[in-house]
Amino acid sequence: MSQAASAKSADVVVIGAGPGGYVAAIRLAQLGKKVVVIDRERIGGVCLNWGCIPSKAMIAASSLVESIKGADSMGIKVDGVTVDMAKMKEWKDGIVKRLTGGIGELFKRNGIETVAGNASFVDAHTIKVSTSKGELLLKAAQTVIATGAHVVELPGMPIDGKLYLSAKEALDLTAPPAEFLVIGGGIVGCEIGTYMAKLGSKVTIVEMSDSVLAGTDPELTKVVQRNMKKRKMTVLTGAKVTGIDKSGTATIETAKGTKTVKADKVLVAVGFRPNSADLGLEAVGVAMDERGHVVVDDQLRTNKPDIFAIGDVIGPPYLAHKASKEGIVCAEVMAGQSVSLDVKAMPAAIFTDPEIATVGLTEAQAKELGHNVNSGSFPFGANGRALAASHPDGFVKFVADADDGTLLGVHIVGHEASNLISEAALCIEMGGTVSDLGLTVHPHPTLSETLMEAAHVVEGHAIHIYVPPEKPSGNSTKAAASTR
Ligand code: NAD
Repeated sequence: MSQAASAKSADVVVIGAGPGGYVAAIRLAQLGKKVVVIDRERIGGVCLNWGCIPSKAMIAASSLVESIKGADSMGIKVDGVTVDMAKMKEWKDGIVKRLTGGIGELFKRNGIETVAGNASFVDAHTIKVSTSKGELLLKAAQTVIATGAHVVELPGMPIDGKLYLSAKEALDLTAPPAEFLVIGGGIVGCEIGTYMAKLGSKVTIVEMSDSVLAGTDPELTKVVQRNMKKRKMTVLTGAKVTGIDKSGTATIETAKGTKTVKADKVLVAVGFRPNSADLGLEAVGVAMDERGHVVVDDQLRTNKPDIFAIGDVIGPPYLAHKASKEGIVCAEVMAGQSVSLDVKAMPAAIFTDPEIATVGLTEAQAKELGHNVNSGSFPFGANGRALAASHPDGFVKFVADADDGTLLGVHIVGHEASNLISEAALCIEMGGTVSDLGLTVHPHPTLSETLMEAAHVVEGHAIHIYVPPEKPSGNSTKAAASTR
């Protein structure tokens, strides 16, 4: 990071070096802009340092532990598996360092300058940065706000890294807590809760609403919840933690009465809020919604023509790949290209066990929008590769327009769902049909065949599951599996 000086200038200042900001900066540099990136913490933002990447590393390690312990069924006997979580954390930190170091190197090669400090607007073309060496003024023709979002805290439960943790602290633990209480059954709560359960913690998830992973097709969530139960995780929905005493005993109100649960560590995972306060946005007149998200148009431009915003700070879904896409579009708009954000298919992946990955409309959404829906599912249990990898749980569900066959949504719960969803995203993005996917030859034996076969189910000619011959259109196809 550069030394603090009194004044600098740039074509573009990017505030925030997460997957939105760093991607925008690189694209801007490719397009010939002189770019300065400001971040108060580390290059890579939450995603690379404390979120997506470290959590996937720890989830992978804990899944390996579970696989080794369960390898008996494959005829592999392993005695005395022990976990050195401190070493696991070191390994995870090494991956983070390698990736963030890589971004630093890309910045250098692209001639992007970085400044470490807290940024705020003085006016629409002047940014003040408080650095460890004093204040720096940056003059910029244009600015990108890519400041992300932060974890919501609950009253009386401040994230202290001791009893109360956010995902960041949970991923740095050097021993699994005996009793792990998770408040919030959203994506973070379910991912980290499952990770801890695999390392041996007794996990309780307390979710206020009546379902975990709200917003996901309940058919998919059911498979994840079934597996949580197998791991002896307790999931309390429609429940609220009303207090936790100093010894870590939590009082929980549920529909069936009051419960107490002992907690060595408490993960608070009740959502994100945008990082838009303290940026001086009100002073410059940048419009925000009632929750503090910066308001932008389809070119990622705020109501101030030279100020753009991307990523979590403009609102949900809070996804790294959404931020990166917005970063690229915004850079191209800033460089004068005639482009806008036009994404039909925004995929999402949840790294529970099994994984969930979705793109496009759910069946309920498609019906609400007036589509005559044709849907069908193909089970992982009828896919040879899934069985050979010992991952038979889950299914691929297609949601299509019954009238013209347009693929509207694909919802996967199963092994490697996150790596399978992109084919569906491509199909939906291109306005493709169920037939396009079904007619495409898929290599055997692979998990990707589940998508091709789900297309065949929707079209009523499944090979590896039995579908009754006269499938009435407009109905959901559920079929009996015959495994190969
Ligand atoms: P979330 O919004 O997904 O879930 C929070 C959950 O907490 C909700 O179900 C809510 O009903 C519940 N809740 C709120 N207050 C509560 C209370 N007092 N007691 C009990 N439950 C309560 O938020 P998150 O899981 O913290 O994740 C934050 C954001 O980060 C999400 O928008 C998510 O999309 C994103 N994220 C994505 C990924 C991924 O793509 N794999 C991973 C991690 C985070």
